[in-house]
Amino acid sequence: MAKYNITYSCGHEGTVQLLGKSEERERKIKYYEEFGLCTECYKKQKQEENAKLGFLIGGSVADTLSEKGEIQICLSFAGDTLPHKEEIKALGYRWTAVDASQMAYMRKPDMGWVKVVPYEHLEEEKEKAFAIGAKEAEMISDRELANQKERYQEMLSEQRIYKRNLRKKAPQDTSENREKQQMYEEKLRSLCPVEPDVIRGKYWNEKVYGKAGRYSIYPDSKRFEISDEEATALKKYLSDRAEYRKTKKKMEEEGFVVPAWA
Ligand SMILES: [Zn+2]
Repeated sequence: MAKYNITYSCGHEGTVQLLGKSEERERKIKYYEEFGLCTECYKKQKQEENAKLGFLIGGSVADTLSEKGEIQICLSFAGDTLPHKEEIKALGYRWTAVDASQMAYMRKPDMGWVKVVPYEHLEEEKEKAFAIGAKEAEMISDRELANQKERYQEMLSEQRIYKRNLRKKAPQDTSENREKQQMYEEKLRSLCPVEPDVIRGKYWNEKVYGKAGRYSIYPDSKRFEISDEEATALKKYLSDRAEYRKTKKKMEEEGFVVPAWA
């Protein structure tokens, strides 16, 4: 890796670090000088773009059903959000990665104001967003709309399966089933996940970035370095919690009683 001093297209100077073959580097330098902007000018341009875009609210179908089996909508604000920051927070939105499905592939996720709500609450939530001045985003292409409709249909059928499973009859009151009920409860007790200190009380996107010796996480969206032991504990916490949820779901599906404390 090497550092180069360059003059961006805005006329300001800066340093870039480049990798790769020398012709590749030269191509990049040329690109920066012709089209690139320095950090300050880039920020300004973004702000102007956002101001032009206006203050928008949009939504798409979330990838998963809620714990109650509801279809969920992932709402997010876009554009000129800065002047509305406090109002957005008050509506319960969180500053987090906009598209969770992409996070594993990205070094730093694309951040935005996000809230996941059951589909039934969509209109109500949109009204709240309109009340603080947001307009409905009309930037979704036909293709995206078709994808969303498809996704919605998939979720509907998943929801039907979920509800059918819930309706299943309770298991007969036999000693075998009573034992099974007890076994499930013990399993839940042993798995009962306790949040590790580094994330307790904070919002965490459930991702650990980096590798051994230099792990980091983003509690409340701020970078925080953690030890290898803490990284291991976080991963165990996630897998225990997944197993815990799976066990609860299985109990429900088989008609066993999930204890009130779980
Ligand atoms: Zn500049």
